Amino acid sequence: MRLRFFVSAIACLFSSLGAAAQQKPYVSPVPATSPMTMKPEMTEIWNPEVKTITPGKKDSEAPSDAIVLFNGKNLDQWVSQRDKNKTAPWKIINNDYMEVVPGSGGIETKLSFGDCQLHIEWSAPDTVEAGGQNRGNSGVFFQNRYELQILDSYNNRTYRNGQAGSIYKDHAPLVNAMRAPLEWNTYDVIYTAPRFKANGELDAPARITVLHNGVLVQNNATINGLTLYIGLHNYPSAHGEDVISLQDHGCKTQFRNIWIRKL
Ligand code: MG
Repeated sequence: MRLRFFVSAIACLFSSLGAAAQQKPYVSPVPATSPMTMKPEMTEIWNPEVKTITPGKKDSEAPSDAIVLFNGKNLDQWVSQRDKNKTAPWKIINNDYMEVVPGSGGIETKLSFGDCQLHIEWSAPDTVEAGGQNRGNSGVFFQNRYELQILDSYNNRTYRNGQAGSIYKDHAPLVNAMRAPLEWNTYDVIYTAPRFKANGELDAPARITVLHNGVLVQNNATINGLTLYIGLHNYPSAHGEDVISLQDHGCKTQFRNIWIRKL
């Protein structure tokens, strides 16, 4: 019995020594061309040279490559949504800002856009006359379909996916960064249009990043489809570039300093 154990132990020892001998020697994972042998200029890209533009003197001012959609002077870049042959029916006040004329209908840009960077400033009506969704309601519709909500959400509770900074009935904002009435709010938006396949099916949904008064409220959020008041959002049909529209929701919401960069 003792002899059998001894033989078995010796066999085991030789077996493990054999396995060790079969293991491949360790090879350091250093690539054939080690970074140590590279020169700094080998990872420098010079051409094409990055285009130079002139930024605004303040963040509210359009950079040199932007299209100014509204600077307080006129509504030349906008038309009435009810009659696209007519100029936008909203009021310009003090050569500074425009104000919704309740009941006159929304307005939309003459130009169409897809991927873009948009800067827009807005203010709730001067007088707080209502609550919930009827307090300073308006909205920016990208490609005339997808609404970034505008609402006076200062001490004004409503459904979270319908307050200022929300993608209406789609995504609530990350925080409520609203300023008080009579103060101006800013939206700085990076918008990526949806992509469609040749057969019209959705290939990639729209995406949106929004800074509200410099605070991130939508972080590359997926837009789940056409904004609807009732029903689940989806993409009913393929489309290309389209206008940006501003909503008349019956409130005297104000706008100024609107500019856009095509991306
Ligand atoms: Mg709205």
